Amino acid sequence: MGAEQPSLRCVRPVLSNLVADHGEAQRLIDFIDLAPSPYHAVAEVSSRLQTQGFMLLDESEEWPAESGRYLVIRGASLIAWDNKPDSHPFSGFRIVGAHTDSPNLRIKPQPDAGSSGFRQLGVEVYGSALLNSWLDRDLGVSGRVSLRDGDRPTTQLLRVDRPLLRIPQLAIHLDRGVNEQGVKLNPQQHLTPLWSLGPPDEGEFRRFLAKELGTTEDAVLAWDVMAHDLAPGAVLGLDDEFVSSPRIDNLASCHAATRALIDQIDIEDWSGDAPGIPVISLFDHEEIGSQSATGADGTFLTTVLERICADAEVDRNGFHRSLATSMCVSADGAHATHPNYPERHDSTHPILVNGGPVLKVNANVRYATDAGTAARFELACDAAGVPLQRFVSRTDMPCGSTIGPVTAARLGVPTVDVGIPQLAMHSARELCGTQDPAWFVDALWAFLTAA
Ligand code: ZN
Repeated sequence: MGAEQPSLRCVRPVLSNLVADHGEAQRLIDFIDLAPSPYHAVAEVSSRLQTQGFMLLDESEEWPAESGRYLVIRGASLIAWDNKPDSHPFSGFRIVGAHTDSPNLRIKPQPDAGSSGFRQLGVEVYGSALLNSWLDRDLGVSGRVSLRDGDRPTTQLLRVDRPLLRIPQLAIHLDRGVNEQGVKLNPQQHLTPLWSLGPPDEGEFRRFLAKELGTTEDAVLAWDVMAHDLAPGAVLGLDDEFVSSPRIDNLASCHAATRALIDQIDIEDWSGDAPGIPVISLFDHEEIGSQSATGADGTFLTTVLERICADAEVDRNGFHRSLATSMCVSADGAHATHPNYPERHDSTHPILVNGGPVLKVNANVRYATDAGTAARFELACDAAGVPLQRFVSRTDMPCGSTIGPVTAARLGVPTVDVGIPQLAMHSARELCGTQDPAWFVDALWAFLTAA
C-alpha cells in the first residue's frame, strides 16, 4: 500500500468508547473458556467463521476459483480470508497474524508414574511457562487424541473439565527460605502432577483417554494433551477494570482478529480502488519459536497466499506483485508497566492497562515494526478513534519476540508488531484490561478495511 494515509471506506458503528466495554471483555472471557488448547481455539474460530459463511477448505483438494469467504486449517493453525467479488490480489493482502498456543504442561507419551503412595502423570513444559504459576491449581486436561479407525488414524478433540490434576507446593515448614530465595522448581522433579493414590499403573492414562472418548484402550494411538486451569475467567477490580484469565497471551489477539474479520464482512460501500483481501492467520507453536509445519516460520501462510493468487489466475510474478502491496499486523500480547516492578520498564515508555493497543518497537528487530508500518497502524488507530501506546524494552534488558519478524522474513511483507497490554505474561493466569480488547477489535477492523 506504500506509505499513504489509510482511510476508512465507510463509517463503522462505534463499538467502543471511553466507557469500559465490558461486553467485549466478557466475549473474550467466553472465547478463552471455549479454547483450553490451541486445537480447541482453532475449532472455535472455525465454527464461528463457518456460521458467517466462510467455507472450510481442504489443503489436499482443489479450491474454488470464485471469490468468497474461506478458511483452511493445518493442525492447530488457521488461515481465513474474505475474497470479495471486486477484490484482486494486486490490491494486496491485509494480514492480521496471531498465535493460538500458550505455555503450559503437556502429558508425556508414557506418563504413568508415581512416588510415595501417589499416582502421578509425567509432563513436559511447553514454552516459557512461569512454572510456579502451575502450583496449587485444580487442573483439567484437553487437546487432541489420535485414534485407530481400521488401518487409518483419526483425530478427536478431548476436553475434561473436572478437577483431575494438582501440583502441590512444598509446605513452608519444609522450605523455610522460600519467601527469601524464591520458589526453585526442577521441571522433571517438582512439576509432576498427582492424580490418584496407589502404585504406578502402566497404561492408566491411555485407559482414561479411551474411557473419556468412548473407545477401547487399543484404539488410542497417540495424543497431544495438556493441562488447563479450571478456574473460570473473571472481570475484576473496584470498577471492573480488569480481565483475569488464562491464555490472554495470545487468545486475546486471536479473538480480536476473528471479530475484526467478521465485522468487515458486511461492508458494501466500497468506493474507489478494489479493496485489498483481508486475511487472518492464527499460528500454533509461537511459544516454541514458530519452526514447524504449522508455525509462522513454516510454509503455511505463503502457500495459502500463493494458492489464492493461483485461483485468481495470477501467476507467480503476479503473486510477488501482490506481496509488494501487502501489509501484516502481528498481534500478540504487550507488557503493561508493572506497578510493583516499575524499574523493569523504560520509564519514558509507560504502558497503561486500558490505555489502548501497544505498538512494539525494537531496534534489533525482535519486533518487525519500522517507521513505515508504525505510521500506518497509528493512522488506522486514528481512523478508529483508538489511542495507541508505544513500547520498548529497557536498553539493558533483552527483548522478547513474536511472529512478526518471522512472518516479515518469510513473506517480505512490511509488518508491525502490536498487542494489548497485560501483566503476568506466561503465567497460568494472566491479567489485562476490560477496555483494551474492544479497542483492539476497532483498530484491527480499521487496518483490515483501510484503503
Ligand atoms: Zn504471545
